[in-house]
Amino acid sequence: MMSAARRRRVLPLAALLAAGLGVIAVTAQTVVTPPKNRYTPEQDVQLGKEAAAEVRQQYPVITDDQINAYLDRAGRALVAASPQNLNHPVFEYSFTPVNLKEINAFALPGGPMFVNRGMFDAAEVEGEVVGVMAHELAHVLLRHGTANATKAQRFQVGAVAGAIAGAIIGGGWGDAIARGSQFGLGAWLMKYSRDYEKQADLLGAQIMARAGYDPRDLAKMFEAIEREAKGNTPPQWLSSHPNPGNRVQYIRAEADTLTIGPRTNGTGFAAAKARFATLPPPRSMSDKTNAGGGGTTSVGTIGRPVPPPDTRYKTARGGQLFQVSVPANWTGVNGENAVKFVAENGLGDFQGQSVFTHGVELGVTRASSRNLTAATESFVNAIVSSNPGLRVSRDPQPVRISQRSGLGTGLAGRAATGEIERVGVYTTLLADGSLFYYLTVVPERDADTFAAAFDRVGNSIRLTDR
Ligand SMILES: [Zn+2]
Repeated sequence: MMSAARRRRVLPLAALLAAGLGVIAVTAQTVVTPPKNRYTPEQDVQLGKEAAAEVRQQYPVITDDQINAYLDRAGRALVAASPQNLNHPVFEYSFTPVNLKEINAFALPGGPMFVNRGMFDAAEVEGEVVGVMAHELAHVLLRHGTANATKAQRFQVGAVAGAIAGAIIGGGWGDAIARGSQFGLGAWLMKYSRDYEKQADLLGAQIMARAGYDPRDLAKMFEAIEREAKGNTPPQWLSSHPNPGNRVQYIRAEADTLTIGPRTNGTGFAAAKARFATLPPPRSMSDKTNAGGGGTTSVGTIGRPVPPPDTRYKTARGGQLFQVSVPANWTGVNGENAVKFVAENGLGDFQGQSVFTHGVELGVTRASSRNLTAATESFVNAIVSSNPGLRVSRDPQPVRISQRSGLGTGLAGRAATGEIERVGVYTTLLADGSLFYYLTVVPERDADTFAAAFDRVGNSIRLTDR
């Protein structure tokens, strides 16, 4: 654990007198110390890099030289104003604009930051945007993502990268990325505690002051976000950055202790704002969900009788990736990286959460390793971590999937519905190094009825990735 001994900033008495303030007790800025962390800064970088690659694929990233250059300058100026002892040399900073209208920005462990156009549109002065960037940068410097992981248990870094990306992106887009790797894990990792929020606010205020911006502008942006929170759709930003209480007040109080330094960043803000106006209109995070119909997907009603698998089969394709035969009375439910085939009354809402009780899922997820055993272990750990009722009931055993070496792992335990559930996890590596999986899900009482169908579906899988 690092200690952050910091020098006090004391205004020269002459300056105070010149300002007509008379004799004043100068308060020092708050000392912000990084929380306990079991991970290395290198692991922060690895995690953030993998998650950022997924975010860049899924997000409407803006590739405009002028906007990119502005954001990069603003970001680098903040990094330069950061405390040296927190700015790990391995960190790799990047500042990516995104054409989304929600007021939001987020930074991933180790440095990648994404800033929504909606922040620029909402900001009247540059300090509002720069302030939120400084807050995000503070999370990176204090390594809050991996500190969160430290608080709970050891996670394998590779297993959570996709999870984090999925959780951040959220909604219809996040689901696609998260499927197979998230299971609620990433959402939890990137949701900061109120303590961490206050740390990021205070360190962010200190950094922006040193970079030449008034921290009161950050407080102003928070007021705008709070106003938006009273509307119908609470800002996404608040769901991962909860208000610790009195946010605006303590940022202003901190600002009173700080000297605003000379500004090193140029004047590109107005031009960048104008440039945004020339781009296609921003999209909304909810667009994709709406296009897909939105709401909870269901096949029948949970709790009603589930018919046995039909003995007739139909053939389905999973994009360019695989072909499979499934019982004719199962319904296909598509995602971007996975597809479920569900028995009637086997997928739907149960006491406010979406549950999947009878059927199979085939999909692809990021592999944590080129080694099948290690990649499978990470994948299975991710499933178990987020489904507390489940545990491994049969250790991984060699299987063949589409004539390739695979592993089959058995899980068992109490499902969200209260029933004892059996889950089969079959995995093999694809040519591109990602992990293909075939999951079977059934309550124990129906296991015998579904066993033959699960085998037949598994044996029918034809991978076509090479
Ligand atoms: Zn935050």
